[in-house]
Amino acid sequence: MTAPDVIVIGAGFAGLAAATALVERGARVLVLEARPVPGGRASAVRDAATGETLDNGQHVLMGCYDDTFRFLARIGTPDRVHRQAGLAVTTIERGGRRSTLRLPPLPAPLHLLAGVLAWDALSWREKVSVMRVGAAVTGRDRHTLPDRSGAAAVTVYDWLVGHGQAPRLIELLWEPLALAALNQPIGVAAADTFIEVLSRTFGPDAERASLVVPAVPLDELYAEPARAWIEARGSQVRTQARARVRVEGDRVVGVDVRGETVDAPVVVAAVAWHALPGIFAPPAPPALGDLLPRAAATDSSPIVTVNLWYDRPVLDEMLVGLPGRAFQWVFDKSVVFGRGTSHLSLVSSGAADIVALGNEALVERATREVHDALPRAAAARLVHASAVRERRATFSLAPGQPARPGTETGVKGLLLAGDWVDTGLPATIEGAVVSGHRAAAAITRRG
Ligand SMILES: Cc1cc2nc3c(=O)[nH]c(=O)nc-3n(C[C@H](O)[C@H](O)[C@H](O)COP(=O)(O)OP(=O)(O)OC[C@H]3O[C@@H](n4cnc5c(N)ncnc54)[C@H](O)[C@@H]3O)c2cc1C
Repeated sequence: MTAPDVIVIGAGFAGLAAATALVERGARVLVLEARPVPGGRASAVRDAATGETLDNGQHVLMGCYDDTFRFLARIGTPDRVHRQAGLAVTTIERGGRRSTLRLPPLPAPLHLLAGVLAWDALSWREKVSVMRVGAAVTGRDRHTLPDRSGAAAVTVYDWLVGHGQAPRLIELLWEPLALAALNQPIGVAAADTFIEVLSRTFGPDAERASLVVPAVPLDELYAEPARAWIEARGSQVRTQARARVRVEGDRVVGVDVRGETVDAPVVVAAVAWHALPGIFAPPAPPALGDLLPRAAATDSSPIVTVNLWYDRPVLDEMLVGLPGRAFQWVFDKSVVFGRGTSHLSLVSSGAADIVALGNEALVERATREVHDALPRAAAARLVHASAVRERRATFSLAPGQPARPGTETGVKGLLLAGDWVDTGLPATIEGAVVSGHRAAAAITRRG
């Protein structure tokens, strides 16, 4: 490849979205990824015992992930997902009561109103109080903005209580939603990002709230197709290529990688907050100001996934919510992938309390919770189990965390992408892809 116009460091969703958007606009791009495969925090790994390709954790997209679906359409994989027609979520309460929240295909806010009114898990009083949050989030009518005043300084829990939400309603509805979206306990995460998520999710129509589950492992959904798409157009993705940015004065001049220097006038650093300080040789370029100390001071929040394989089907649905448990969601990968037996993936978001447990203890906890909720699983034979810990799955959204950075930096030619960049969204695929698209747009604007 001749000298690149742009080097992208990091081949997660953000880096690959940025790279494909730039290639689409005619740029020659070199993507450098430190790990042996692209994918970053949304990647596939091989399970030694079963030979199956597993995701490093179950990922769910939502109907409102506009930039993500644009990216998948660009690389030719938008059909490799199962998409619900409108939101439908079954939950099993700790006492065993099963119910389904279903949003009918009506315009907002009628879909939320009708869905909540029909949800038999809630009392009338609870149904009415859900609508208080609905009104605060969507604006009562087209002329009212969502109520975000002071929301960055209070936790999700305090905000919900302040909007009249009773403890049972919080446990049954808001906590699982917030944990899934923010990956942090509701008593820790700030409310502003949650309000943004709710206003996008329960925004104009029911389709935007629908859950979208990858129908293939994550490497087949985007990482390898994006690499192939980029390379078919004369640009390049190099793996096992840990990069360091070269800055002269206040301008980027290229990167050092595997003992080689590659010149480029523009570099996009699409790495996670904790990796950002490591892509500069010390001392850090003064033009970056306090960017690197802010990145280093940002806390992380873990996710734990336990995979359980049974000798027969134990669930008929793609996913079920288990409110009030350590593992808040159970997915049946076999239902998604169309296989006869059951491979359950149990997800614990905001998992700081259990991430230090050993594999055996994690599997025991997950098995206990799933057997309690699903009698068919308790009656089946567990044939294999594994646990995956992602200690730095997402950045912390707690009040008082360092401010998130923008796309531009103080170093000319150096842009940032990655879910940590301030898109207003939590650490999600959509946040990562939006940040990548923003970096590509900023570069294209400059010409
Ligand atoms: C277990 C788990 C479950 C999740 N579930 C969901 C979900 O259901 N829905 C959702 O929307 N989001 C989910 N997320 C969040 C989502 O995965 C992330 O927000 C997204 O993948 C972040 O992408 P990124 O490109 O910003 O960063 P990353 O994926 O972290 O990519 C950064 C890349 O940079 C590379 N890198 C770092 N330093 C260097 C260097 N010096 N040189 C070269 N390369 C370097 C890294 O190896 C990495 O590949 C989940 C995350 C985890 C961990």
